[in-house]
Amino acid sequence: MSIENLIRPTIKALKPYSSARDEFQGVPADMVFLDANENPFENGVNRYPDPHQNKLKTLLSQIKNIPVQNMLLGNGSDEVLDLLFRMFCEPHVDNVIILPPTYGMYEVLANLNAIETIKVPLTINFQPEIDSILNISNSKSKILFLCSPNNPTGNSFSNVAVENLLKTFGGIVVIDEAYIDFSNSSSWLNRLNEFPNLIITQTLSKAYGMAGIRLGICYASEEIISTLNTIKPPYNVNELTQKKAIANLKKIDIVKNQIAEILKERTDLINELIKINFISKIYPSDANFILIKVDDANKRYDQLISKGIVIRNRTNQHGCANCLRITVGTSLENEQLLKVLKEL
Ligand SMILES: *Cc1c(COP(=O)(O)O)cnc(C)c1O
Repeated sequence: MSIENLIRPTIKALKPYSSARDEFQGVPADMVFLDANENPFENGVNRYPDPHQNKLKTLLSQIKNIPVQNMLLGNGSDEVLDLLFRMFCEPHVDNVIILPPTYGMYEVLANLNAIETIKVPLTINFQPEIDSILNISNSKSKILFLCSPNNPTGNSFSNVAVENLLKTFGGIVVIDEAYIDFSNSSSWLNRLNEFPNLIITQTLSKAYGMAGIRLGICYASEEIISTLNTIKPPYNVNELTQKKAIANLKKIDIVKNQIAEILKERTDLINELIKINFISKIYPSDANFILIKVDDANKRYDQLISKGIVIRNRTNQHGCANCLRITVGTSLENEQLLKVLKEL
């Protein structure tokens, strides 16, 4: 497969903006910088941030065991996903394939970029319908979004199905691994080199506990990453985000312990939810949330709100009639939830 042929002509012809900090990368720190019209008085943020986030990427590269050249950072995965649309999808011409019920941003970003969304619903077990995906896709189908573990269903997609799609789909396959750290299945990062059309996105917003700093990560071939680097806004990851991410990633053991605790809480929560009579189904979860089916989702959702507990009502999503999505909280928060549910 030629990735080159999938890239929009506009993007191939693009001459990127070269920022002041771009032109003087890796020069000695004691040089005098009079090139970017910054305020020269030091306050920690008076200088533009590193446009390539070298320190942060080097650290992530060690943690993830992926070379820096295969990595692009963005202002949340949402920015990364938007860049993928801009790189591959020609407005009013191309389309993308999504598998509902899934993460809502794929369709929002498609609409924003004037790209048609082709929907191929997941099977009853929330797995990709491979034949339907391949039958409906055409030469304009540039990206297939696979969210695994999937939001809002919580399950991972079968490795066999994903591998099959990586080999047969004629465009880019994005695997959104926002919840991979809660999962039993291993990340597709280990197999990045095998598939030129594979792009993996991850985020610091969920397991890593840094939703507030907005940092998304995209892993792909050097070819794809180098093109993404030409179209990303020059200073898309701000200085405070880079500093905070580095500081927290150096204390990665804290995150690992928190993940273990969330997984234990997930099991405990499931064991209690089973006992509640208006919950008819608890879907298996590979993430830090649980999808449940209840007698009347709108009613139960409103009741919980009135008791001060906010969950997500997913009843209008494809295949999710009367389903609610509950994030696993601290043990105290989960107790509060269970107490209210048992009183209803
Ligand atoms: C939460 C979530 C993200 C994270 O987006 P950020 O912009 O990085 O916060 C990405 N994908 C899915 C499926 C999510 O649920």
